[in-house]
Amino acid sequence: MGYFMKLNIIIPCYNEEEVLEESYRRFVKVMSGVSYDYSFIFINDGSRDRTLEILRNLAKQDEKVTVISFSRNFGHQNAVSAGLHNVDGDAAVIIDADLQDPPEEIPKMVEKWQTTGCNIVYAVRESRKGESFFKLMTARIYYRTLNALSEYAFPVDTGDFRLVDRAVVDAFARFPEKHKYLRGLFSWMGFRQEPHMYKREERYAGSTKYSLSKMVHLAAVGIFGFSKKPLKLAISLGLMCIIFAIAIIVWMVCLNIFRPEKIVPGWSSTIFIVLLMGGIQLFTIGILGEYIGNIFDETKGRPEYIIQEKINLK
Ligand code: UDP
Ligand code: MG
Repeated sequence: MGYFMKLNIIIPCYNEEEVLEESYRRFVKVMSGVSYDYSFIFINDGSRDRTLEILRNLAKQDEKVTVISFSRNFGHQNAVSAGLHNVDGDAAVIIDADLQDPPEEIPKMVEKWQTTGCNIVYAVRESRKGESFFKLMTARIYYRTLNALSEYAFPVDTGDFRLVDRAVVDAFARFPEKHKYLRGLFSWMGFRQEPHMYKREERYAGSTKYSLSKMVHLAAVGIFGFSKKPLKLAISLGLMCIIFAIAIIVWMVCLNIFRPEKIVPGWSSTIFIVLLMGGIQLFTIGILGEYIGNIFDETKGRPEYIIQEKINLK
């Protein structure tokens, strides 16, 4: 616990014209009741609607509104990273723009951080409103699969909604990797972490900005970034195939010696083996491809995002 002065609230926005003004009102309403200083870091992640225009107007009226605007859509994880790279307070909260994570939880998370003296307060979804059965199911399966595959234990039912303090922000600045799976990185970091239970609300307006392909991408970044088990899977699958193939050959030889009349000069078994082997080879090559692709992206050393404009920020 310490004496603390300023909180940054990081809000990534992609095509959020329908919610932004209402979100800002709700955020200000909550934050006007606290005794510490604060500022908002809105990240415009290459929106094609009026998001930037709305943010400009808000920033004109309120100097606590700071804006980082990307040159194109770089994705939610990069938007949050940019926010974290621009934290000037003693702690920061990462929160969605669509009011699914209620702003009213922020002071409670700050209080938990202050009273427990921890470094991270991660918000755990006690319930989720207004989300499709498909999203709930895939999320459930995904988090548990990741935990089974990974060498680290990640808290389940946890998104990126969390409070991180200065020590965590400083540690984060030292992560050079491009494919960031933030919730994984934060639990990997260690420090003292406390859960905070909350009820996830429905999106205030508009529709999800996480398309299926973005969800699949995030899931792949999580699995291939935090587990080497898929690589090892290739070895065990390959080994199983070899044993299977040897067993079949032995069986054929035995048949040939003891029951030659039983042999059907067919090609179905051949096709079966060719298909099996081909499938397994493609599967394992695909796994290799994922990792090599990651290595390729990291070695190019390109920046994870490009900032076109900053408002109210140094
Ligand atoms: N978002 C973003 N870039 C993207 C997609 C989403 O900055 O490419 C932001 C979005 O504006 C929102 C947050 O990430 O503030 C979470 O997105 P969303 O609510 O659409 O996802 P869901 O809650 O449906 O998983
Ligand atoms: Mg949402």
